[in-house]
Amino acid sequence: MPKDYSSLKKKITTALENPERGKTLLVAVKRGRDARRDQLATLENPEQFRESIKEIKTSSIENMDALLAKFTKKCEQNGNKVFLARDGKEVVDYILDLANKKNVTLIEKSKSLTTEEIELNHHLQQGKKDLAVVETDLGERIIQLVNEKPYHLVFPAIHKTQSEVAEIFTKATGNQIPNDLTAIMDAVRKHLRPTFLNSQLGITGANIAVAETGSIVVETNEGNARLVSAVPDIHVVVVGMEKIIGTWEEALKLVMAHPISATGTRLTNYVSIVTERLPLGGLSKENRELHVIILDNGRSKMREDPWLKEGLNCIRCGACMNACPTYGVVGGHVFGYIYPGPIGIPWTEEVHGLDKAAEFAPLCISCGLCKEICPAEIDIPMMIAKVKEEDVEKNGQLTPNKILSRSDDFAKLASATAPLSNWVIQSRVSRSFMDRFLGIEKKRKLPEFKRKTLEKQFKSIKEPVPNPKSKIVYFVDIAANYNEPELGVKAVGLLQQSGVEVELSSKLRPSGMPYISYGELKKAKEIAEWNVNILADYVEKGYDVVATEPTAVYCLKFAYPKLLDNSKKSLDVARKSFEYFEYLTLKGDSQNLKKSGKISDSGTIGFHIPCHQRALSSGKFTIAALQSAGYQVKVIETGTCCGMAGTFGLKKGPLGYDLSMAVGKPLFDLFNDESPAIKIIATESSVCTTQLEDGTKCELVHPLNLIAVNDSQKK
Ligand code: SF4
Ligand code: SF4
Repeated sequence: MPKDYSSLKKKITTALENPERGKTLLVAVKRGRDARRDQLATLENPEQFRESIKEIKTSSIENMDALLAKFTKKCEQNGNKVFLARDGKEVVDYILDLANKKNVTLIEKSKSLTTEEIELNHHLQQGKKDLAVVETDLGERIIQLVNEKPYHLVFPAIHKTQSEVAEIFTKATGNQIPNDLTAIMDAVRKHLRPTFLNSQLGITGANIAVAETGSIVVETNEGNARLVSAVPDIHVVVVGMEKIIGTWEEALKLVMAHPISATGTRLTNYVSIVTERLPLGGLSKENRELHVIILDNGRSKMREDPWLKEGLNCIRCGACMNACPTYGVVGGHVFGYIYPGPIGIPWTEEVHGLDKAAEFAPLCISCGLCKEICPAEIDIPMMIAKVKEEDVEKNGQLTPNKILSRSDDFAKLASATAPLSNWVIQSRVSRSFMDRFLGIEKKRKLPEFKRKTLEKQFKSIKEPVPNPKSKIVYFVDIAANYNEPELGVKAVGLLQQSGVEVELSSKLRPSGMPYISYGELKKAKEIAEWNVNILADYVEKGYDVVATEPTAVYCLKFAYPKLLDNSKKSLDVARKSFEYFEYLTLKGDSQNLKKSGKISDSGTIGFHIPCHQRALSSGKFTIAALQSAGYQVKVIETGTCCGMAGTFGLKKGPLGYDLSMAVGKPLFDLFNDESPAIKIIATESSVCTTQLEDGTKCELVHPLNLIAVNDSQKK
């Protein structure tokens, strides 16, 4: 019996029942996304910058052993002590030993996720009863006072409102703190000052450790780490071994990358470099000690894991949290264990174990947005799919996931028996049965199946194209074959009219994306291999590959190569794969379009960018084609997902429809606010179409149905 995620579902429902908290979170993550976007726009070459971050991290992880040895040697030469801790317990034991030897009773800390990872504060206080450990970062202090875990990697108390913070400090200080920012900050300063002055030992994390000089870099916006590292006689740094890089040149790039991605600023307020222990205020250097504890805790194991090692490239900027549609709705106490958000899933799996990670991994709906925003371009969605696979292997697959993964078999059968199948599927009895026993939400409109699939019609619509300008093989996927073959017919017709020879292979299978989403990677790999083998033969014969479904192109260009270890064939196919309108543009035909005449409305067309299309062109070719056909187009977007996420939104309950609609709500509101000026939404994704039909008052139309080729231009 597979586990039913009842605790996760309960937490999601509770989160959805608190719309006020939801709104606060959505505003905060959007602010983070917007600030980052604006800051990136000031860079001369943002893509190159991203590439350089990826390169620095990848090569550092490759050379981790050598860098670790070099850092240790240099750091010790600077007069410091270096200790390599295999796990959290060794860190705790080391610091407790130090605290006992030096009679330490008060420790101050600056924000450090690495110490959160090993629950350092708790274990220190358990190990030495007269020891107090005080967090000095405002967000960390707030969550310490209320005994919670971080809600966000960068802003641990992002979920707390100002009035809640005032209350927390009222309780902590015994003084009535009014709900006023200046008053709160004043109270916090007074509250923390004795800690800064009296701590005998300060613990910081490190954003970077630089091997060439054995130095560490600590970045904070509040300046607290500077006091924590400078005032007490003993400074202990706890740094994850993945933070070690080679040179200062690299370090400077990371120092830039952190604030741009984390807070959308050019530089963090306080960048402290610690190389050796210096006297405080001209006093003696005697008794001043620096201990650097380098933590492994699963990182070496992670480095050996071909699927998860990329996670070590994480620079902890938190940007993936700001992009993740489900995190943005449920927050870090549902979407996280200690490490919250997208990267929290693989990290939790590595450092806290599969069971903890599997508790929130199903919240990933495989939209791919975290990878898009990540400054180190980490393929977080695929790492999560791997975690899900391990979970499925251990705990079994849920019934709706099983059914929806096999939607290609289902579509084949339903289409072969249509229209009877449609009647059966749509009947109230069937929908109730599916809802109750299969977990498919009965409120969700299901697509109709057509008996005359595109495949069946292809022979009759295929036309000889004399002297074709190019040849393509159409990767059809499910919707344009079984549900909307007329769309497929239109796609083929337009290309042929533009002088492109079109082929179809009935051997090709649908993209298999649901297998990735539900953690059945072996199956996904099998499909990838199958499709790539067929398509590679076409590519070798000079064909290009074109798809009308953005997710299909996403699979061809990104998911298949990843599943197939970047095999030559998969990369050849990826290079030759195109979105439909991208291809029309490439062949110079997107300028020769006119309105199809099917739509009488002359207003502006609202355009929705499906998530997987963001990794491709963000719809720019389609928008340009619609504009060249004479439409006014307005992109309406929240910057994240519509919530449908393939088949996720078809499922019943909190881990499906409920969450899906909550994710989509801000986008629905935007479209509905534009109504009646916008009555039509154009989008290329069949599943986004279903979601927007359910959530908005607008009519959904595929862009292909809005255009025709100018007669004078027909080849
Ligand atoms: S793929 Fe999408 S849903 Fe999954 S973790 Fe990344 S951003 Fe979140
Ligand atoms: S995974 Fe990427 S986006 Fe997320 S915190 Fe790490 S570096 Fe930032």
